[in-house]
Amino acid sequence: MSAETPLVLVLNAGSSSLKYQLLEPDSARVTAEGLVERIGEPVSVINHEQGGAETVEELHLPDHRAAIAKAMELFAAHGTDLTRTPLCAVGHRVVHGGRSLYAPTLIDQHVIDEIERIAPLAPLHNPPNLVGIEAAQALLPNVPGVAVFDTGFFHGLPDVSARYAIDRKLSDDYALRRYGFHGTSHDYVSHRAAEFLGRDYDATNQIVAHLGNGASMSAIAAGRPVDTSMGLTPLEGLVMGTRGGDIDPGLLFHLKRVVGMSVDDIDHLLNKRSGLKGLCGENDFRTVTEMIAAGDAAAQEAYDIYIHRLRGYFGAYLVELEQTDIITFTAGVGENAASVRADSLARMSRFGIEIDEQRNAVRSREPRVISTDASRTTVLVVPTNEELEIARQAKALVTS
Ligand code: ADP
Repeated sequence: MSAETPLVLVLNAGSSSLKYQLLEPDSARVTAEGLVERIGEPVSVINHEQGGAETVEELHLPDHRAAIAKAMELFAAHGTDLTRTPLCAVGHRVVHGGRSLYAPTLIDQHVIDEIERIAPLAPLHNPPNLVGIEAAQALLPNVPGVAVFDTGFFHGLPDVSARYAIDRKLSDDYALRRYGFHGTSHDYVSHRAAEFLGRDYDATNQIVAHLGNGASMSAIAAGRPVDTSMGLTPLEGLVMGTRGGDIDPGLLFHLKRVVGMSVDDIDHLLNKRSGLKGLCGENDFRTVTEMIAAGDAAAQEAYDIYIHRLRGYFGAYLVELEQTDIITFTAGVGENAASVRADSLARMSRFGIEIDEQRNAVRSREPRVISTDASRTTVLVVPTNEELEIARQAKALVTS
């Protein structure tokens, strides 16, 4: 292990999945990447790509430690023994850092205890993140681990957007506030957007729409995040694949008192059976698009609601920022679905926003402008790269 070596292993452990990437933060060169799914089920699947070759294996991986060990085996089979490769860090995506953890943090027992203490704020996410951390520590004991928090970018949100308008003492006692998520993506994409346009980040007002399976929007004023659509948990805000975003909290009492659902039932409903999935039975945006093309009325309505909510947030953030220099779309839907970009910003020329139909139709993996030259706000598509951002932040910390 040496702090000078540029390689970082990035781990993103979900409840039954693990994404990993071995990369060089300075050049963004990816040596290998992989995805393990269905960890803990009878048949797990690992997909590993390295040196232009793709390996797919089905086998039983009982836990995340077994999944990481298997990934290490595949690295070795491709000529990279991770225990002998000089890694400068293992960068871990950790979803919730609460009030206490926000900057990239060197992992020690105190940090592990703190992530565990915060886990009730993100019960679906922090526990698997911890399992990934502990598995990496066991298998790569000499490599420093760095936690990079999804909430970190939004740590300094002003109270007007971070506070819920509920009893002040209660929210202070229990750290109930809007934290925001997808922070590494909003951070990476907003910096990349300013760099791409040759603008000073700290003098630019931006809106970023991260539209993937999860979806969130942020407003950044003069380089400082001032609002974001996700809240205490990643349930608030936009319509997503399986999450419905904003609802009247009164709906929850109704589901409990009148429908007779338990808290766990409601949790499942809001996390897994809502959003596009709840509205039309499918959460994958490509499938929803195919259903619309085939005349499916529920899919069309799901799309319309998705767009309606996006327009509402654009409206709110345009007013909040007063002047918006850049709007950027990113993540699976934002990068690929031209109709979402066009429909969510349609008929906004009076607000200085005009999408150029031809530019918007271009397919590319590079950052690109999709607004007209006359548009006062420049609208971009910028592919996100959370792994690269985590690797950069991890390297910066261990070499500082
Ligand atoms: P996450 O990282 O949150 O799992 P992604 O950013 O990969 O999600 O986004 C996944 C979403 O992007 C899915 O709904 C998928 O259908 C959508 N998507 C991917 N490619 C396309 C495409 N070509 N057209 C429309 N939607 C797409």
